[in-house]
Amino acid sequence: MLDTQPAQPTQTQSGAARIGFVSLGCPKNLVDSERILTQLRTEGYEVVNRYDNAELVIVNTCGFIDSAVQESLEAIGEALEENGKVIVTGCLGAKEDQIRAIHPKVLEISGPHAYEQVLEHVHRYVPKPTHNPFTSLVPAQGVKLTPRHYAYLKISEGCNHRCTFCIIPSMRGDLVSRPIGEVLAEAKRLKEAGVKELLVISQDTSAYGVDVKHRTGFYDGAPVKTSMLALGEELGKLGIWIRMHYVYPYPHVDDIIPLMAAGKILPYLDIPLQHASPRILKLMKRPGAVERTLERIRKWREICPDITLRSTFIVGFPGETEADFQLLLDFIAAAELDRVGCFKYSPVDGAQANELPDPVPEEVKEERFVRFMELQQQISTRKLAQKVGQTQWVLVDEVDAEGAIGRTPGDAPEIDGVIYLNGETNLKPGDLVRVSIEHADEYDLWGSVIA
Ligand code: SF4
Repeated sequence: MLDTQPAQPTQTQSGAARIGFVSLGCPKNLVDSERILTQLRTEGYEVVNRYDNAELVIVNTCGFIDSAVQESLEAIGEALEENGKVIVTGCLGAKEDQIRAIHPKVLEISGPHAYEQVLEHVHRYVPKPTHNPFTSLVPAQGVKLTPRHYAYLKISEGCNHRCTFCIIPSMRGDLVSRPIGEVLAEAKRLKEAGVKELLVISQDTSAYGVDVKHRTGFYDGAPVKTSMLALGEELGKLGIWIRMHYVYPYPHVDDIIPLMAAGKILPYLDIPLQHASPRILKLMKRPGAVERTLERIRKWREICPDITLRSTFIVGFPGETEADFQLLLDFIAAAELDRVGCFKYSPVDGAQANELPDPVPEEVKEERFVRFMELQQQISTRKLAQKVGQTQWVLVDEVDAEGAIGRTPGDAPEIDGVIYLNGETNLKPGDLVRVSIEHADEYDLWGSVIA
């Protein structure tokens, strides 16, 4: 129980804000460490294994028995000596006076399971790396601290594609999948820590395991293939909401739709398509068979009628003509995606697309963005109106004096809409309730809890 758990270092590659991390203590403390590390990485920080290479060091302490207290105090002392900027969390953090008596220079102290506070402390001393919609895995507004009832599960790092607008591969290198056993063990610990929804993220979720040739790993003593399908099957056994993000449109994505239809994982697919003009997709170095995409979407809906499809698109990519843009609008109208994000193209330092000719003037980008969003708003309004009268499960995110706010399986936190449960003040975040949907607007729903 009290063995020292090593930090999970990664060598810095991009010059992003670097945080050193020391994790001591029992497996429960490790879950806190993992949640803090996951959040740090999700927000774009890098976690490094050298004190002198970090802008700040977090020490997650143990205070269970005297030797653990001693070990924690020594670790804090070492971090102060080697780096100077130290924040302390974990069990020993509950005894702030004891820490301050020996190490008065510690910047901040928090107790166990206080990862929200730890992140706040980090933001105070090392500002969050700038959000870039082309490289971040979470949206700008979405890097709020994740509440306790949902968590991100990062399954790999890097990417084997070379989309011309993206610098991820040059920053983070080719795809490196985390061992399946490690990912599943983390998922299980998060569930045991009270998480009700896991958001599977990576740069390319459908490529999971490609780098290791889908080798067989082990989880709970049983062999499991390193693949998106096996991951979905195993995560589906946890009995909590599993949501797949950043799924590149490979053909084998079709294989996970039956898992959704069977209720194993949420019927929700976040599949960034980026454009619909074959010419622009070629310039982006993305798959360009739009007709086939429409056909696949039709099949997915046939297999899983409840599926919610989310995608993101870029308007104003260099060389995009009015005809290309019209193809995009036609696609949007035909595909009737449930949730859509749209970015106006902006050059990212180091991206190949910067060298493409025929940049689109800003006012044209803006005008296309507005036309795109107007069309999608009509589609979204129509699709949400179809939900009125249905009964759905809702996961509660927030409760205040006026009522509760939650999400249906079709709503990912921060990026999609919500459902308002006015007057439902007796609920608490993390509750899962049956709700009758009574009203909808262009993005959100309203409903009442049914007994
Ligand atoms: S799939 Fe393309 S956009 Fe996504 S991370 Fe890889 S290179 Fe970047």
